[in-house]
Parts: sequence; C-alpha cells; structure tokens
Amino acid sequence: MTQMISCQSETDKTVLTHYMSLPQDKDAVMVEYIWVDIDGDGLRSKCQILDFIPKMASDCPQWNFGAITDFSTMRIEDLHLYPNRLFNDPFRRGNNKLLLCDVYHADGKPVRQNTRYSCAQTMKLVKDSHPWFGIEQEYLILDANGRPFGWPKNGFPRPQGPYHCGVGYNKAFGRDIVEAHLKACIYAGVKICGGNAEALPAQWEFQIGPCEGVEAGDQLWIARYILFRLTEDFHVTITLDPKPIPGDWNGSGGHTNFSTAAMREEGGLKFIEEAIEKLRKKHDEHIVLYDPNEGKDNARRLIGSHETSNIKDFCAGVENRLASVRIPRQVANEKKGYFEDRRPSSNCDPYIVCELLCKTCILD
Ligand code: ADP
Ligand code: MN
Ligand code: MN
Ligand code: MN
Repeated sequence: MTQMISCQSETDKTVLTHYMSLPQDKDAVMVEYIWVDIDGDGLRSKCQILDFIPKMASDCPQWNFGAITDFSTMRIEDLHLYPNRLFNDPFRRGNNKLLLCDVYHADGKPVRQNTRYSCAQTMKLVKDSHPWFGIEQEYLILDANGRPFGWPKNGFPRPQGPYHCGVGYNKAFGRDIVEAHLKACIYAGVKICGGNAEALPAQWEFQIGPCEGVEAGDQLWIARYILFRLTEDFHVTITLDPKPIPGDWNGSGGHTNFSTAAMREEGGLKFIEEAIEKLRKKHDEHIVLYDPNEGKDNARRLIGSHETSNIKDFCAGVENRLASVRIPRQVANEKKGYFEDRRPSSNCDPYIVCELLCKTCILD
C-alpha cells in the first residue's frame, strides 16, 4: 500500500517562524480538536480558539463537525466531539493544546467507528484488575515519492541485519523525524517510554506505556497524530501498513504488552499462563480484530518468519519472537510481570486490542 504523492506544497519554514513567534495573549488559546477518522485508519483535527487556558479535557466545550454518514443518500450529519484527554501542543507551544476527542451522534449514541466508547465500558468492568498496556508502534518512513526513505532510487538497500538499532548514515534512515517525534511527545505529555531503529531500513518503533485502561489507546492515538503531523514539516509520509515491502523484509507490528495487578505480584506468572491458555482458545477471534481488515492485513505479515508467528497457529513461549505471545525472559525469571501479544498489526486500533485482551483474559 504505497501512497504515490507528488507534494509540491512545501513552504519555507524559516518564514513561518516569524508568525509562530508572535506574542499570544492568555485569552486566546488554540485548541486542536483531534479525532479518529470515521472512515479510515487516520486522524482528523480542527482548531478552536478558547478565551481561557484549559487545565483538563473537561474544561473544553464539546464541538462538532460535518461528515457523510450515509453514502447511499450522501447525507451529511453533524457529529459531536466529546473531549477526552488534553496535551500540550508541541507545534504551536505556549498555552496551546491538543485535545483528543471521540465521536457521537446528536442523540448521544457513539458512532459505529467509535471503538473507544466500548473499550471504556469494558475497562470499567475490569478496573479492579488494574489492566496495564504497553504498546510498541512500528512504522516505515516513506519519501515524497512513496519510496522507503533513504532507499536507493533503482533497487534495494543491502539485506536486513545492520539496521535494527543501527547507527550511522548507511544504517539509520530518517532519524531526524524520530528525534523530533520523541521530543514532541515528551513536550506534549504523552506517555512515551522509548524507541529504536527497526530491522527494515527506514522502519522505526516507539513505545507507549505502561498505561492503565482506556488511556493506552488515547496515548497511542495522540502519538500517531504527532507523528503524522510532523511529516508535514519533513516532507515525508508514514505508512502503518503491516507488510509495506513484500518479500524478505520485516513487516510492522503493534505488539501489545499486557498485565493485571495479579500478574505483577509475587508468583504472577501463574496468572500470565492462565491468560495465555484463554488467548489460545480465542485465537481466531483475536486475529479478526487485530488489524482493520479482519485479519487480511496480518495475513501478509504473520507468516512464521521475520520475527512473526504463523497466523493460523497460536503458540506461546519464553523469549520466543516467533510466537504469537512471548513471555519476556526477565518475567520468566522473576515469575511475575507481563506478557507480549505480538499479533496486533502496526495499523491496529489499540482500543479494540486492549478491550479484547481484557475480555478474554479477565472476563472469560
Ligand atoms: P520488545 O523487547 O518486545 O521490543 P519493548 O521494550 O519495545 O519490548 O516494549 C516493552 C513494552 O512493555 C513497553 O511499551 C512498556 O511500556 C511495556 N511494559 C512494561 N512493563 C509492563 C507491564 N507490567 N504491563 C504492561 N506493559 C508493560
Ligand atoms: Mn520493541
Ligand atoms: Mn520492534
Ligand atoms: Mn515487541
């Protein structure tokens, strides 16, 4: 799924600096309302200027936008944005904010694509288990022509091996974008906990968490927003496709690390093993929901090689990166901690993945 684009919309950012540095009064705060696109795997946003500095999401008024909700009649409906989580705006700085919202019909019902709503409901049911999530987001940087960033024009870079955690001009392609993303996320207050260069040249990863409950999904979506927004400044694009380059090249995952309070306590390994047995029974159900295309995207990625399991089988193991679910070595040694579900794809919806993990591992 390479996107061919021919962006000639580049402007001189040093000119922009003049305007961005104009003084801004406290009674004019730019709040960027952000929501998960109702017909895609991306995000949309628009700006509202408030006459006070919001301290939390609930200080911000609800808002709305128009969208086609019925393609047969081309009806455009007013959909409502409910504020959920507030971040500092690393692009505009000052008192300005990013505001993550979810989407509802006028009658207060969540839109079908609002997976956060159901996730939040489930998280209420399991809140005494204190479910924590840490999500690894892998992605590939593409240049303006839709080619992996830094790859030779006619051909391929040398085979995989030197790139994972690689250092140097001939190994790490696009580090500026990665550095900018980490700093911007930290400034924003995103719970980002690390990052690294990945196995495929121009492929990178960042990690979110650990976060409890529905917050994990919020944190991942806002980190994705910041990444996509950055591409406007660097004249690149990001693909979250789980197998962006066919053949002998690694795909991109959304490994989801999961634990409950019981798993984190002394002897918690027993509860990790129990959860894994429950996951084994529900493998097919999880696969259908672990990418936005009912498992078809992951079918290209989960092939039993390139650090993946085979999509048809469930397997689990300590330290095993060819497993569906991996127990980290340290967790096995300490007999407590968390496990890693390696099946979710890079373009997964974290609200769906986190909700399903709780349903299967806690509620079943
Ligand atoms: P990997 O070895 O698979 O590359 P990473 O270091 O990239 O692992 O990611 C580890 C993830 O596990 C991070 O997102 C981190 O927040 C998360 N994590 C750590 N401890 C826990 C825990 N107790 N419960 C859930 N997630 C956790
Ligand atoms: Mn990782
Ligand atoms: Mn990785
Ligand atoms: Mn991992």
